[in-house]
Amino acid sequence: MTRIGFIGVGTMGLPMAKNLVKKGFAVAAFDTSADALKAAAAAGMTAVATAAEAVTTADLVITMLPSSPHVESVYMGDGGILAAARSGTLCIDMSTIDPSVSRRVAAAAAERGVRFADAPVSGGVPRATDGTLAIMVGASDADFAEARPALSAMGANVIHVGPVGSGEVVKLCNNLIAGVTAVAVSEAFRIAEGFGVDPRVVTEVISKSSGHTWVMEHMHPVPGLAPRAASSNGYQPGFMTDLMCKDLGLAVDAARTLRMPVFVAPAAQQLYRLASSHGLGRKDFTSVYTLLTPSATTAPV
Ligand code: NAD
Repeated sequence: MTRIGFIGVGTMGLPMAKNLVKKGFAVAAFDTSADALKAAAAAGMTAVATAAEAVTTADLVITMLPSSPHVESVYMGDGGILAAARSGTLCIDMSTIDPSVSRRVAAAAAERGVRFADAPVSGGVPRATDGTLAIMVGASDADFAEARPALSAMGANVIHVGPVGSGEVVKLCNNLIAGVTAVAVSEAFRIAEGFGVDPRVVTEVISKSSGHTWVMEHMHPVPGLAPRAASSNGYQPGFMTDLMCKDLGLAVDAARTLRMPVFVAPAAQQLYRLASSHGLGRKDFTSVYTLLTPSATTAPV
């Protein structure tokens, strides 16, 4: 039985690791949150007290952490994965982070004889739960082949997109589109509501028109229109506003590296920042819709 050390069993990591357990992998889980660890133990994983403990006996290591600094410290910090993993171990980071950080961690791993791949995901909690995530993998051919059975337990579309770091590039491109789209959908529905058109009817028409998007179908920002959307559950994440803010920042940074002008990604990022400063940082990113309310002033000024 393949033994997996899984670090970061939060909103996404827990349902992903549960699917590994379901498919017969033995999972040792570590998380800094006691509640997350408790949930992992309840789901049939072995809860351990440190990252090192999760990886020393593992055949494969998987990390699902919030952002670049977490990944750097969990891999490269004192008592981190690279110090504890056996030589030759394959580590797969599934977090959404800066591609240059993935490459830096991969280089540090190689110095210790450890292999590293990036495999960020798309699909949110419903598809993490169903085991049908899209997984975009940056790895060598051999590492991809070795990672594939575990990744296939968590995702329906496991795609090898290039060498280490490439998965993160595709992921930040995807989230640029999703983050901007959620703002556009929110603006559109607020306008329709303001003119008294039923959002249900707007949804029906747009779903058959050129404005149709994944975000509207699966993550509708208006409560009650998509049963599994976070908006229909008090905007419980789902995908937190602060994480979307981070991802749009990654996209803007990537464009800056290329000295390429980008316009809508920074605008959307500022709106998510505003949402965060209004207390919505740990709510689902589609709660940005609740910020967009018509002005009390009716006459144009
Ligand atoms: P989360 O905050 O719910 O989970 C992260 C977990 O990592 C938490 O349980 C936290 O306690 C743990 N953690 C933090 N630092 C740690 C450390 N040093 N050692 C061990 N555990 C540590 O976030 P999430 O929503 O699960 O997202 C995880 C990653 O997946 C992010 O990069 C996010 O951008 C990406 N992602 C999220 C979604 C989504 O819908 N939530 C979708 C696609 C991708």
